[in-house]
Amino acid sequence: MKSIGVLTSGGDNPGLNPCIRAVVRTGCYLDVRMMGIRRGYAGLIDGEIDEMDPRSVGGIIGRGGTILGTARCPEFYESKGRKEALRSLNRFGIDGLVVIGGNGSLTGALALWDMDFPTMGIPSTIDNDINGTDISIGVDTALNTILDAIDKIKDTASSHNRAFLIETMGRNSGYLAMASGIAGGAEMVLCPEVATPFEDIVHVVEDAYIRGKSHCIIIVAEGWESGAQALANKLLDRQDEMGFSVRVTQLGHVQRGGSPSAFDRILATRLGAAAVRELLDGNAGHMVGWIKNAITPTPLEEAVAFDKELSPRLMELARIME
Ligand code: ADP
Repeated sequence: MKSIGVLTSGGDNPGLNPCIRAVVRTGCYLDVRMMGIRRGYAGLIDGEIDEMDPRSVGGIIGRGGTILGTARCPEFYESKGRKEALRSLNRFGIDGLVVIGGNGSLTGALALWDMDFPTMGIPSTIDNDINGTDISIGVDTALNTILDAIDKIKDTASSHNRAFLIETMGRNSGYLAMASGIAGGAEMVLCPEVATPFEDIVHVVEDAYIRGKSHCIIIVAEGWESGAQALANKLLDRQDEMGFSVRVTQLGHVQRGGSPSAFDRILATRLGAAAVRELLDGNAGHMVGWIKNAITPTPLEEAVAFDKELSPRLMELARIME
């Protein structure tokens, strides 16, 4: 293999830049011509491709976002779009591809592999919903951003004796909500994996008030029923009975930005380097993940077959700590 392309695709997160840097520098170290593809599969189809060298990824290890840009590309769902992508890869003399992204992007990588193009995936999403890795790139930084917000909201919630609903991202996964709830000392976590009756929520807020707490923090995953705002609207009618008044904070896209944490920089560097080595060793068609503190390749079709389940132990821990 003489030339490897790299792209970032789908939802962005902190950690993409250190990963691109590791892919490019490892490839150059191993005498491979490295090609950066802009705007994910869209840029691949449009031929937005340039050669990269170790210097072109200088100074980015601490920067959020992705220097290559990312995009969602409807054409790539169609076989016509994927043929155009293959044409571009051939035109630029690229004979291997590293795809950094979430479930959708890795499904796209599998589609290319099914067309016999040597492709490797790297799991990168704040949702932490990908099989074949204990944690994806970006999760740790997003968690730290949420924790910072929880700590600040607690200050103001305590001053005013309020209950706060804090909505976190994560699509259909409750991981970010659950983990930040545990780390942030929340009174309750609502995630899509667990059905929680409305009256239980009222009870938790009321109970926190009666026990003399100065605030009540409830973390709500965006995928939980109809979300934090709809829940707040229902709770507002019960404020007098619960004791606390209710406010909502939707953290939104702030969770996708920021300088990657030490953990994310190291994870991204290890997975990026491993992806290139696996491609060169003839192990295309895999995703490199992080399982039990070791780099572990998983076939792409297994990685994207279904969403990772939220650990029952984590859920139990959150309940005990509430
Ligand atoms: P993420 O990678 O963050 O999950 P998306 O689900 O939006 O983000 O996927 C990113 C891109 O990957 C899509 O816009 C599309 O180009 C490609 N993709 C997603 N699913 C498929 C699929 N089933 N087949 C081919 N390409 C796909």
